[in-house]
Amino acid sequence: MPTKAGQDGNTSAAAARKRAERTLSIVVPCFNEADNLPAVHARLCETAQMLRETRGLKIEVVYIDDGSRDSTYAVASALPAIGLDVQTVSLSRNFGKEAALMAGLHHARYGAILFMDGDGQHPPALIERLVGHWIDDGYDVVYTAKAHRDQEPLLRRAGVKTFYALMNFRSRHKIPEDAGDFRLLSPRAANALRQLPERNRFFKGLASWIGFRQLRVDYEPAERAHGRTSWNLGSLIGLSIEGLTSFSVAPLRVASLLGVLLATGALIFGMAILYETLIYGKSVPGYPSVVVGLMVLGGVQLIMIGVLGEYIGKILSEQKARPVYFVAEHQTRSEAREEASEDRQPGAAA
Ligand code: UDP
Ligand code: MG
Repeated sequence: MPTKAGQDGNTSAAAARKRAERTLSIVVPCFNEADNLPAVHARLCETAQMLRETRGLKIEVVYIDDGSRDSTYAVASALPAIGLDVQTVSLSRNFGKEAALMAGLHHARYGAILFMDGDGQHPPALIERLVGHWIDDGYDVVYTAKAHRDQEPLLRRAGVKTFYALMNFRSRHKIPEDAGDFRLLSPRAANALRQLPERNRFFKGLASWIGFRQLRVDYEPAERAHGRTSWNLGSLIGLSIEGLTSFSVAPLRVASLLGVLLATGALIFGMAILYETLIYGKSVPGYPSVVVGLMVLGGVQLIMIGVLGEYIGKILSEQKARPVYFVAEHQTRSEAREEASEDRQPGAAA
């Protein structure tokens, strides 16, 4: 909420809403980004000051330290609140980027929300353009997408293509290909995202699923200044399975389709054997066909049990209803006073 709300006793709800429309929380998930944060923060301060002058936009930045092993939290807590308010939240351990984004969504106090990485790969220079599409053009979700994937290995590009093809297979709502986590949500879109109850999150999909007016902006991600990406093949496959099972029952349909195909194949094969035996009196051809048939059936059944397991695992984890993250430390510094108010919330979930 805007801090000035208490000063004016008879502020109408409409005026409050209007003001909320002109505030922006920038959520930055950070995992071992101590070396990158000062540079990112300096550029955010510049952008915030510029946006305040040109558009009267009040901005806060929310750094979510996702259980970093380096000094990310100490560095973030010491960043100056120049031209914007600063919130630093430290999670009790590393919960993963999706959980960090959710923590940011819960802690953001202002109307609109912008998500960006803490490694400097998302250019702050683009923020002004995203804000323009929101305020001037009335878009609710302005998402960025990599302009091209030319530098990426062929195998990875093929993987991404297959993932989106499966994901969007016959689904009513298509999730845009290549969309990244660098995106701006208007106040009503941010509220919609907060209302989604699921704990297994696939943020890109959810932000698209809520609807409203969406706009794609192409950009060229910068190189990482320090550190290494925390994604590897395993975690990317994990995120893909998470996304697929969250948004699509296509893998289950594939099971039924394969079943029908195999049964049809078996029927035709059986008829052919019968025909040969009855008309030409040929004897039954040995066991290879039987063994191959058995292996195909066994393999397909095992794969499909695995697919079912993914969905059942998801039901189990939703049903346990555990909090997605815990906050260990939380600090808010507002721009005007530069005083730190600190509160410790051991074990408090959002
Ligand atoms: N990140 C996080 N928790 C994690 C892994 C990553 O908060 O467990 C943050 C990370 O600090 C960065 C953003 O998510 O700000 C994107 O991570 P990364 O740069 O490793 O991914 P890539 O840019 O390669 O997709
Ligand atoms: Mg990165």
